[in-house]
Amino acid sequence: MTRYPVYVRGIATEPKVALTFDDGPNPPRTEQLLEILAKTGSRATFFTMGKWAERFPRTVDRVLAGGHLVGNHGYEGQGWIGDYDQAEAVIGHLTGAPSRYLRPHTFNYASYFQSRIAQLPESHTIGRDIDSDDWQTTDPDTIVRAVLDHPKLGSGSIIVFHDGAENEEAAIRLRRPLPMLEAMPRIIAGLKERGLRCVRVDEMALAEPLYWESGSSTPELESHDHLAARANALARSPD
Ligand SMILES: [Zn+2]
Repeated sequence: MTRYPVYVRGIATEPKVALTFDDGPNPPRTEQLLEILAKTGSRATFFTMGKWAERFPRTVDRVLAGGHLVGNHGYEGQGWIGDYDQAEAVIGHLTGAPSRYLRPHTFNYASYFQSRIAQLPESHTIGRDIDSDDWQTTDPDTIVRAVLDHPKLGSGSIIVFHDGAENEEAAIRLRRPLPMLEAMPRIIAGLKERGLRCVRVDEMALAEPLYWESGSSTPELESHDHLAARANALARSPD
C-alpha cells in the first residue's frame, strides 16, 4: 500500500514557528492580516483555495508582494478527485511557479492524495501540530490561549489559522476571520516573548514526516470533516 509523507512540524533546534492561513484569499480580511504581519515583521504561509484565487487574484498578488508563501489548498474543497490539480492551474499561474507546499482542506488526506500534484515527490504536504480552532469561536481570547497555552507550542510549531472560509456566502467569509484578526497581534507578541520567529514553512527545516496511508488512523493526521460540517451548519442557522 502506498504511504505518503505529511510534515507536521519543523525541527525543534531552530527558534522558528510557521503561522499558516487557510481558505483565502478573502478580501479585505486577507489584506487586514497582511497589515498586521507587515507591522510585526512576520512572514507566513497562505494555503489558498483555487476558486477564491480565481475570483480575487489581486489579493494573491498582495500576499506575494508581502513576501509570504502561497500554497495550494484545493479548488473547492469538496473532496473531489483532482481538486488540487484544478486549483494548481489557477494558483501556479498566479504565483508563476508550481506549488511545492500544499495542505488538504479539512485535513481530508484521503481525497487530497487522489490529486496528481499531491503525489509528486517534490510536493510537501503540510499538516499541523497546533490548531488555533479560530473558526470555531467568536472570542479572540480563546484563540490567543489556544495557541500560547498549547502544550506543544515551541520551536518548529506549525500553527493553523483561517483568513477565509470555503462558504459561498460572503457574510460568513467576512465575519469568520474577525476574532482571529483581533487575536493575531497578541499571538505574535507572545511568540516573540518566547523567542520564536514567525517564518514561512519553506524557511523552516522540516522535521521527519508522519506517513499517511489509506485506512490507517494517526491522531495527528485526523481529518476535520465532521467539525467543518458542524461549523457550516451553525453558520447557516439564523443567529
Ligand atoms: Zn481549509
